[in-house]
Amino acid sequence: MTLTLSDSELLRKGSYIAGAWREQGVGVLAVANPANGNVIAEVATVDRAGTEAAIAAAHDAMTSWREVPAKVRAQVLRRWFDLMMAHQEDLAVIMTTEQGKTLAESRGEVAYGASFMEWFGEQAKRIDGDVIPAPSADKRVICIKQPIGVVAAITPWNFPNAMIARKAAPALAAGCTIVIKPASETPLSALAMAELAERAGVPAGVVNVVVGSSSEIGPALTDSPLVRKLTFTGSTEVGRRLEQACSVTLKRTSMELGGNAPFIVFEDADLDAAVQGAVVSKYRNSGQTCVCTNRILVQDSIHDEFVSRLVAATAELKMGNGLDEGVQQGPLVNVGAVGDVEQLVQRSTEAGAHIALGGARSDLGPCYYQPTVLTGVTPDMAVFRNEIFGPVAPVTAFRDEAEAIALANDTEFGLASYFYTRDIGRVWRVAEALDYGMVGINEGIISNEMAPFGGVKASGSGREGSKYGIDDYLEIKYILMGGLDR
Ligand code: NAP
Repeated sequence: MTLTLSDSELLRKGSYIAGAWREQGVGVLAVANPANGNVIAEVATVDRAGTEAAIAAAHDAMTSWREVPAKVRAQVLRRWFDLMMAHQEDLAVIMTTEQGKTLAESRGEVAYGASFMEWFGEQAKRIDGDVIPAPSADKRVICIKQPIGVVAAITPWNFPNAMIARKAAPALAAGCTIVIKPASETPLSALAMAELAERAGVPAGVVNVVVGSSSEIGPALTDSPLVRKLTFTGSTEVGRRLEQACSVTLKRTSMELGGNAPFIVFEDADLDAAVQGAVVSKYRNSGQTCVCTNRILVQDSIHDEFVSRLVAATAELKMGNGLDEGVQQGPLVNVGAVGDVEQLVQRSTEAGAHIALGGARSDLGPCYYQPTVLTGVTPDMAVFRNEIFGPVAPVTAFRDEAEAIALANDTEFGLASYFYTRDIGRVWRVAEALDYGMVGINEGIISNEMAPFGGVKASGSGREGSKYGIDDYLEIKYILMGGLDR
C-alpha cells in the first residue's frame, strides 16, 4: 500500500450506502497504480443485493431531500465544493495513483469537478416554474418543476472525479437522490468524494456509491422501477446496451458516450496556436478523453510545415509517473489499453500510414505508449474510424473547406470538434456545418461548468453543465386550476 495523504480518512475501502461504509463485502477489488503496477488498496465490493439496498436507501431519502428548500440544498452543495477544494491535493494524489494522469491534470480535474458543485448549487435556486395564459377567465395554468426521482449514475475511469460531480451536483440541486457506480479501475476517487459529501452534511441515503462488478450492479440499476433516471458516461457500446435495458422501465436516460474529434487546421490559421492547441487537445490525459483530438485534418498547402512543428512539440513531452515533477504524459490506464492502441497503429501502418514520431511501447513500463504522430492517414484506416483513447495523433491532408467538412463529419460520432482559422466568414460556415455537439474555434480545450457538454449521433444525448444541465433531472408538472368564477 503506497499512498500518503494529509487526511487518511479520504482513503475509503468499501461502498457507501445509506450513510454507512460497507468495508466488509461480497468480494474484493484490488486497485492498482498503472505507473508501476503496485496495489494501492483493496476495496470491498457489493453485489445485486447491495445495490438494491442502495436504491432503497436513495428512494427513502427522496421523501425528505426533495422537501429541503432549494437554498439549503445549495448550501450543502457549496460546502461540498469548499471541501473538495480544501482537499484538492489529496484528491489529486488519489486520482493520479489509481488512474495515471499527471498530478497537474488531477488537480485541474478536482477543481473542474468542484465547479459543478458550486454551479448547480447556484442553479438550485433558479428552478423556476411558469404561469401560462389560460384558455378561459375562470382558469389558471401553471407549470412546476419537480425532481425526477432516484438517479443511477454509471461513470468511467478517465475522469474519476468530474464525471461523478457533473451528475451528482445537478441531481442533488434538483432534489433527487443518487446511486453512483464508479468504474472498477478508479473507485477510490468516488469513495473520497462520498466521504466529503458526508462531511458537507449530505443526509444519509442521498448519495450512495456502490463498488463492484458491472454485471451485478448494472442490471440492478436498470431493472429497478424505483430508479427513474440513468445517467451514463462511457463507451458507445455499453451505452447502447444500457439504453436498451432501461427501455423496459422507460427510464429517462442521458448518455455521454465516445467521440472521434476532428481538429481542422486551415491555411490561414495561426500555426503556432494550432500546434499548441493540437498538443493539449490530443495528449491530455495521455489521449484518454472523449473530447481528445482524434483526427488532425490539415490543408495541403501548410501540411508539411504543420507536421514538422507538431512532431517537434510532441517530442518535447516528458513521459513518466504522473506523481513526478515535470511529467506531462502519464501511463495509460492499464495494459489492455496499451494493447488496443498498439493494434490501431499497426492496422493503420499496414494500410499505408507513416510513423513520423513514436509508434511503439515505451520501456518505462507495461502501461506506457510513446506519444505518436502518424501521417498519410486516410478515411478507411482504423485510426480514422475508431476512438483511439491513447497518445496517437493521425494527420490527414485536405484540399479545401468542403473536403475538410466532409472528412470531419465522416464518422458515426458527434461529440467535440475543433478548427483553426482567422477568416470570420469561415468561422460561422464551418461551425454551423460540423455535425457535433461542441465546437472549439482556435481553442483546443473548451469544457467548463457554465457551458453545455454533450454530443449528437453515436456520442449520445443530454447535456451536462450549464443552465440546461439541470433539466435532465426535473419533471415538468402541468397544473390547471379551474372554477375561479369571479
Ligand atoms: P466503459 O467500458 O463503457 O465503462 C464505463 C462504465 O460503465 C464503468 O463504470 C463500467 O464498469 C460500466 N460498465 C461496463 N459495462 C457495463 C454494463 N454491461 N452494465 C453496466 N455498467 C457497465 O467505458 P470506459 O472504458 O470506462 O471509458 C471510456 C469511454 O468513456 C470512452 O468511450 C470515452 O469516450 C467515454 N467517455 C465519454 C465522455 C462524455 O462525456 N461523452 C466522458 C468521458 C468518457 P466497470 O469499470 O466495472 O467495467
